[in-house]
Amino acid sequence: MKLITNRVYGAEDILPADSYKWQFIEDIMRKQAQSYGFKEIRTPVFEHTELFDRSVGDTTDIVQKEMYTFTTKGGDNISLKPEGTAGAARAMLEHGIYNDGYPIKAYYLTACYRYEKKNYGRQREFHQFGMEVYGAASAFADAEVICAANSIFDRLGVQNIQLELNSIGCPNCRPKYTAALKEYFGRHRVELCDTCRSRLERNPMRILDCKSPICSQIAKDAPKVLDFLCEDCSTHFEEVKSCLDAAKLRYRVNPAIVRGLDYYTRTVFEFVAKDIGTICGGGRYDGLIEELGGQHTPSLGFGMGMERLLLLLREQKIEIPEPPVCDLYVLGIGEKAKLKAFNIIEGVRNASLIAEGDIVGRSVKAQMKYADKIKARFSMVIGDSELEENCAKLRNMNGGKETVVPLDEGFFNAFFAAYVEESNSSLLEQLNSMKG
Ligand code: ATP
Ligand code: MG
Repeated sequence: MKLITNRVYGAEDILPADSYKWQFIEDIMRKQAQSYGFKEIRTPVFEHTELFDRSVGDTTDIVQKEMYTFTTKGGDNISLKPEGTAGAARAMLEHGIYNDGYPIKAYYLTACYRYEKKNYGRQREFHQFGMEVYGAASAFADAEVICAANSIFDRLGVQNIQLELNSIGCPNCRPKYTAALKEYFGRHRVELCDTCRSRLERNPMRILDCKSPICSQIAKDAPKVLDFLCEDCSTHFEEVKSCLDAAKLRYRVNPAIVRGLDYYTRTVFEFVAKDIGTICGGGRYDGLIEELGGQHTPSLGFGMGMERLLLLLREQKIEIPEPPVCDLYVLGIGEKAKLKAFNIIEGVRNASLIAEGDIVGRSVKAQMKYADKIKARFSMVIGDSELEENCAKLRNMNGGKETVVPLDEGFFNAFFAAYVEESNSSLLEQLNSMKG
């Protein structure tokens, strides 16, 4: 078979056989977000490019190299979102949501686009779950957001994931630190990679985030940001740590964490897994909302990579419950019986159970095979004689027990009785096997 084209490099399809894994994780994320008092926000997949220039920052790799930017037929300069925060912050301001009072707590599940080299856990289209808080300066907000991210790992049963924590100060203390970095990296100018050499003037903190082995080696002995924090930032950082201690959440202070986006202030954190890297990254961005034209609004949040999280679950052999199977397969033989079968199937579906019948014109034998393949719990054959007698045999596919059920309104009661009996006995079986 020769297709006219394949999927775009760096993008992945999520196929029907795998989508339940995404849904399972997304359900947990939604539930956890809810229990922390967050509501979902959905923003467009594209924005005016200047939004990302201003918020993500035009000295970052994302804006300089990774954005999908294009000019529309109408002449607008548009970019696909490379992350979720900028759009959420823009929407919050544009709709005046802040008028309802602070804090505003929102979460998102979104596709993101970055023109990067494909790698393990790195794609050009990927997905993020993220949480955002606007209008909360207290260290409890930092701790709440970090605990919320952690609760998702907990619920999924993820182990060996390290929370790394740092504070990168504020516009008061950052300039002194930046000057110290300039001085330090300036001494290593010739050894730095080209990108870092250009970062030296504009944003030397980015050098700490460089993935080239030489730059990261040099960065090891660079001045540490924690030694430069002003008193307020220092106190805030101590408070965040106390809150995390109170929640019994273990962390490691890592001065190398600076994050790849310009808008961060004070707290920054990452959840890191061996072999995969950063699964979740976030922190505080007290200056972001002002940068976008709003009032000063202390804010914070995180982004969690869905693909990397799925890789982690696979590596840790964490089983994701499979989706429910077909409850009833009804097979009709003959025109009239087929219509009766369809009528019953629709009835079962209306009762929120899963029912299927033939839609491709298979033979009786092939249909039985199909019912087996989809692991249907019950099957039922309706032919001329069943129609005449107005009853049919309902077959329990796990064990083969047969029950005669009426085909009129009495069907549903009889089916649900058999269904409940089967559910109970398979639950009992499960319990017994656990005891054994
Ligand atoms: P990295 O340092 O690995 O490039 P980042 O700092 O660019 O990550 P963030 O911008 O903080 O990542 O995004 C938050 C999370 O989104 C990351 O921790 C990761 O799980 C995920 N992520 C980022 N870029 C990609 C990508 N290209 N493919 C898949 N997931 C990604
Ligand atoms: Mg990156």
